[in-house]
Amino acid sequence: MSNDTKTLLAELGIDEVNSGGYDGSWLDTQGELLESVDPTTGQVIASVRQAQADDYERIAERSVEAFHEWRTWPAPKRGEVVRELGNALRDKKDALGRLVTLEMGKILSEGLGEVQEMIDMADLAVGMSRQLYGKTMHSERPEHRMYEQWHPLGPVGIITAFNFPVAVWAWNATVAAVAGDSMIWKPSEFAPLTAIATTKIAHEVLEAHGAPAIFNLAIGDRIEIGERMTQDGRLPLISATGSVAMGRRVGQVVAGRLGRSLLELGGNNGLLVMDDADLDLAFSAILFGAVGTAGQRCTTTRRLFLQRGIADRITERLLKAYPTIRIGDPMDEGTLMGPLVHEKAVGTMMSAIEAAKTQGGELLYGGGRVDREGFFVEPTVVKVPEQVPITCDETFAPILYILEFDDLDQAIAMHNAVPQGLSSSIFTNSMRTAERFLAHTGSDCGIANVNIGTSGAEIGGAFGGEKETGGGREAGSDAWKAYMRRQTNTLNWGTELPLAQGVEFDL
Ligand code: NAD
Repeated sequence: MSNDTKTLLAELGIDEVNSGGYDGSWLDTQGELLESVDPTTGQVIASVRQAQADDYERIAERSVEAFHEWRTWPAPKRGEVVRELGNALRDKKDALGRLVTLEMGKILSEGLGEVQEMIDMADLAVGMSRQLYGKTMHSERPEHRMYEQWHPLGPVGIITAFNFPVAVWAWNATVAAVAGDSMIWKPSEFAPLTAIATTKIAHEVLEAHGAPAIFNLAIGDRIEIGERMTQDGRLPLISATGSVAMGRRVGQVVAGRLGRSLLELGGNNGLLVMDDADLDLAFSAILFGAVGTAGQRCTTTRRLFLQRGIADRITERLLKAYPTIRIGDPMDEGTLMGPLVHEKAVGTMMSAIEAAKTQGGELLYGGGRVDREGFFVEPTVVKVPEQVPITCDETFAPILYILEFDDLDQAIAMHNAVPQGLSSSIFTNSMRTAERFLAHTGSDCGIANVNIGTSGAEIGGAFGGEKETGGGREAGSDAWKAYMRRQTNTLNWGTELPLAQGVEFDL
């Protein structure tokens, strides 16, 4: 391990072996060792002693206690703590961003961008803390007042994926905190160190404010911790980000106990380029969308729909650009594409390429593994004659499928004919075409863009998708409502007791 890495880990308080449980203090966890592997080298960075059932029990109990105290803090006071969390993240942006890059392999500018997203979320949540509005209504009964108010919900379970190992926590945690909730975070087993570093930063902020332990952590096995958490009736909300398979399981278990789930699952995002588009804009957006984060974003551009008039031009330009993409150590300035997260992801990508070929796809570029240590692959372009089974799946790797079309209706129909519905975009200079894409008969996704790509959302809007993407919305707009409970109040300030709907009930 280089001296730079040792210094980085020391700065963030990461030891060789770390506790996987936090409930206000770090628990003496005794579970199996989980090794965190650097996908660039395949070497172990550090290990975590995972939390077990009894650790989870303690963390859950403390989270309930913390909730009971935290909900009594006025929301703007809770916002002040979140403001300080944002400031602490500003101080540690460089180190935490580097750790994101080290542990999951996205390039450094994206690692730093991820921490910036946490900071932006904290700023947004501070504002929300003074805007948790309810409505007032006019009662049909004289001298009555009706209104609704939003109360803290309870301890929230947060399950996160490896690819945004800290930003997704912040989407949930900053908003849940101002809403008055405590939380338990179960991070991805492929990014435990970033979760520990984040929790350490949050711990210092809570301590400095005398705030209860609302930001708790349980790193452990999917069954031992993940399932236990989803079955736990003390957690009224489980917010889970990850694959469709995971969401299907979590959604069913939580529904079985009549809890609430907020699901942010896989995407299979399409980008349409019309003949009248600005091709320079479209080209840049496709490149970042398909290759950025080595194709490991939920919003990665996976399906490229080209209108026939420009299809050859865009395809040729992509095929010239792909060989120039600098693949390498994500820490190095100038690298555009780092590794996949683990060996299994490389195998999954190779199987998908084989499937595409047998389903009529023509491999135009890439398709192989890069001959070096770590989990590196070539960015890949496959032309398919039509939508085939493999293009309906999300393969979490940099494979771009090209499909050609004649007219917009045909393109929209193909675009929508997949089970997922996260992000979509169209490149056109026609206002009519753009509006047709955004209309209710257009894209069926939670996110639909014009002249920007599918990848890289801002935090002010509600983020999430439809169909198998799970229907959840996080981050901006009114997403805070998911973390609170709504209460409708009717208050009679008169001397009579009239019943609604004109019902009479006199003795
Ligand atoms: P994954 O589904 O393998 O794991 C995600 C998390 O779920 C991990 O913490 C894992 O331990 C946990 N988990 C798995 N099974 C569980 C169970 N039965 N009970 C409780 N927890 C369980 O996903 P991944 O490989 O880490 O991430 C990639 C996936 O996440 C992709 O499909 C991607 O599109 C999706 N994703 C979606 C969004 C979004 O906002 N829509 C954002 C990021 C990633």
